[in-house]
Amino acid sequence: MPGYELWSDKERKEVNDVLNTGILMRYGFDGPRKGIWKSKELEEAICQIFGCKYAQLTSSGTSALTTAMSALGIGYGDEIITPTFTFVASFEAILSVGAVPVFVDIDDTLTLNPDAVRKAITPKTKAVMPVHMCGSMADIDALISICRKHNLILLEDACQSIGATYKGKHVGTIGDAGTFSFDFVKTMTCAEGGVVMTNKEDVFVKSDGYTDHGHDHKGADRGADLHPFIGYNYRISELHAAVGLAQIKRLPEFLAIQKKNHAQLKNILTQIPEVKFRRIPDPVGNSCTFLSWFLPTEEITRAVVTEMKTQGILPGNFYWYDNNWHYIRKWDHLKNAVTLNALHPHLKAQVIYHATKDFSASDAIMSRCISTSISLLWSEEQIKEKGEKMVGVIKKVMSEQRAPV
Ligand SMILES: *Cc1c(COP(=O)(O)O)cnc(C)c1O
Repeated sequence: MPGYELWSDKERKEVNDVLNTGILMRYGFDGPRKGIWKSKELEEAICQIFGCKYAQLTSSGTSALTTAMSALGIGYGDEIITPTFTFVASFEAILSVGAVPVFVDIDDTLTLNPDAVRKAITPKTKAVMPVHMCGSMADIDALISICRKHNLILLEDACQSIGATYKGKHVGTIGDAGTFSFDFVKTMTCAEGGVVMTNKEDVFVKSDGYTDHGHDHKGADRGADLHPFIGYNYRISELHAAVGLAQIKRLPEFLAIQKKNHAQLKNILTQIPEVKFRRIPDPVGNSCTFLSWFLPTEEITRAVVTEMKTQGILPGNFYWYDNNWHYIRKWDHLKNAVTLNALHPHLKAQVIYHATKDFSASDAIMSRCISTSISLLWSEEQIKEKGEKMVGVIKKVMSEQRAPV
């Protein structure tokens, strides 16, 4: 998963360019910055590498989602369909624009189940927001056809799947808008940062203004800019963009290592017929940040997790079902709509209603799923050792489970 693992002189050099001029802000100061525009350069690189017309950097992946939703006109009264398995940021952004997160079940792709999406559509549905979790993609064609049929916005939360593709197109560039996160543990990092990608000029122009207090950025003088609408400050700094600029140039290297390590580990686990792997709608497009695998039952999965812990090989293996941040089961703050500021009572009731529905179909999948994060630092020898230990644990547990009590 993480580009931070390969921190190098390349990142230091880009950051030093900014430190040398001392112009840490992305806008203005045209003279003193001496031609150093790291944020602009990174936005251009994003457009070129991922194949979108426009890119707007932001301070985080969360603010990128908020920005995209605002630019797409999503707000009060709107429902956004989104999966039960994601990072909390997805619903945080929905709540931040005053919309209702409508959670629906995932399937064995670990992303939105298209049938569940169809069933959740109401006259208030405004958008479908798939989350391309753990390096791989949702069933995008199925979602596109649903959105077309019902005239819905498709907003891709691609924060975790930088570099993944679907039928030749980069995830995050296929819907009306898409976002990446460049936080510290993502495939490439800015330390903190994010981006809104879109092919629609109006979505970009609105994102550009929204992230900078509504500035229209039309004149040379910031102080004289007009503000056609109310915005916020979700700007990235030049220091953060500089890190990202070094990292994006290294992305092909990161992805190649990830894919190689993923393939080696998967190959080892394939020895065990009871281990099934996540379904990938377009296998060649998998960015391979994680290897996600399923065991036959929750009981076996829990026993494998416990045994991996005992043997000291649990770090890097995620049992999301018990995780506080990525699966709805443990989102008690959301289920109780615990916010610091008051929500409109109607919104609050809807949030609670949608967060506490029956998600047994998701539970049936997540309770049997373990994701192994793929390190860029592993040697072949280490992967072999790790894989064999995992196989040993699974075999041990399976034979104990089979044995009569
Ligand atoms: C990381 C992440 C985000 C938010 O990114 P931040 O940069 O940490 O705010 C949003 N959605 C998903 C699925 C993520 O994994």
